[in-house]
Amino acid sequence: MIDTHELKRRAGSQREVYFEAKAPADLGIDVIGVPEGDLLQFDLRLEAVVEGVLVTGTASGRVVGECARCLVDIEDEFLADLQELYVYPESDAEDDEASRMEGDLIDLEPVLRDAVVLALPFQPLCTDDCPGLCPECGARLADEPDHRHEGGTDQRWAALSGLLAQADVQPDTSQPSGSDDTGRTEES
Ligand SMILES: [Zn+2]
Ligand SMILES: [Zn+2]
Repeated sequence: MIDTHELKRRAGSQREVYFEAKAPADLGIDVIGVPEGDLLQFDLRLEAVVEGVLVTGTASGRVVGECARCLVDIEDEFLADLQELYVYPESDAEDDEASRMEGDLIDLEPVLRDAVVLALPFQPLCTDDCPGLCPECGARLADEPDHRHEGGTDQRWAALSGLLAQADVQPDTSQPSGSDDTGRTEES
């Protein structure tokens, strides 16, 4: 909640505010979010306009979750952009969707929720090139770059050796039949 009474509803008056507030429960998405009670930093500008108060700025803080590929715990910072017009309670703005002030108070929470979700990755990763888990035993491949299993050829290597085999064959078949005689002279 932000109190805007200092703006005195004079269009054009504005104020910068910086404050910290505790995160509400369930802020974020299933795989990554802000721990409840964590401190969030708000850096906002409140600007009185004719119909209400325009709020712009950022909210930032810490998010925790798990890597979508290897499931390791991850922790990251986020910075969410906030921008919303809060109309005065008695305003007859046509837009029923508009956020309304409660007296001089602004309830930031709904806008904060939307902004945080937008600022978070849908598939959080521990590193951009996380190789994930071994499909056979579930080992975390980032921890074991040389991880492989005895007896079974890794699928990627199988595909690669297939390509190499083709590459070996191709020069022979594509060799022009009427090549020069030097090869034969050497053979004979
Ligand atoms: Zn990972
Ligand atoms: Zn394995």
